[in-house]
Amino acid sequence: MKQGKCPRCGSEEVHSGVEVLPKSGPFGSNSIPISIVSIAALDNYVCTDCGYLERYIADAEKLKEIVKKWPKVKETDRKET
Ligand SMILES: [Zn+2]
Repeated sequence: MKQGKCPRCGSEEVHSGVEVLPKSGPFGSNSIPISIVSIAALDNYVCTDCGYLERYIADAEKLKEIVKKWPKVKETDRKET
């Protein structure tokens, strides 16, 4: 999706909300909690043909935090989806 192509419908009408503010903070809905004291801002990528949405955490420090704090999904669990 970051390369500008929708993985769902193949359209190249992908728009990114990377510069949209506020990305995080008390009035920003564009963020996810990592722990009680930490939230990560998200970058949105939307296909304007089918509405498909992908979200990415841009902050490498937050990704490291998730490695430490969130349990890893096991390979066997993934098959059930
Ligand atoms: Zn699409």
